[in-house]
Amino acid sequence: MTDTMPLDGMRLYPIAPGRPMPPNLPRPQTEHWDWQRHACCRARPELFFGPDTATESPAARARREDQAKQICRPCPVVGDCRSHALRAPESHGVWGATTPIERARILDTARKSTVAAR
Ligand code: SF4
Repeated sequence: MTDTMPLDGMRLYPIAPGRPMPPNLPRPQTEHWDWQRHACCRARPELFFGPDTATESPAARARREDQAKQICRPCPVVGDCRSHALRAPESHGVWGATTPIERARILDTARKSTVAAR
């Protein structure tokens, strides 16, 4: 039997139990994801990723997103979360107290600032 070890987030590489990682392979970079262990949203994921837009009214979505943001604001990893969501970019769900529309606006403003600075 073999274990598997995720290395790039998509593929799983077989690792024989009790054997060291081959030295030529990259190590898992857990420091990039450890912040998620401290996420306050883990108990209420349904607030952060709602049903599809066809079944959720705009008013219901706004209420759900506001509730999610209330959980985000005191979250100890809100900065890491928002940075990840902007860098990815995450196009669905509430991340770091921002909705997809708010993140799109932040990215658009940053793009315009970059272009203006050239
Ligand atoms: S900031 Fe919000 S979405 Fe991000 S980890 Fe914390 S509670 Fe979850």
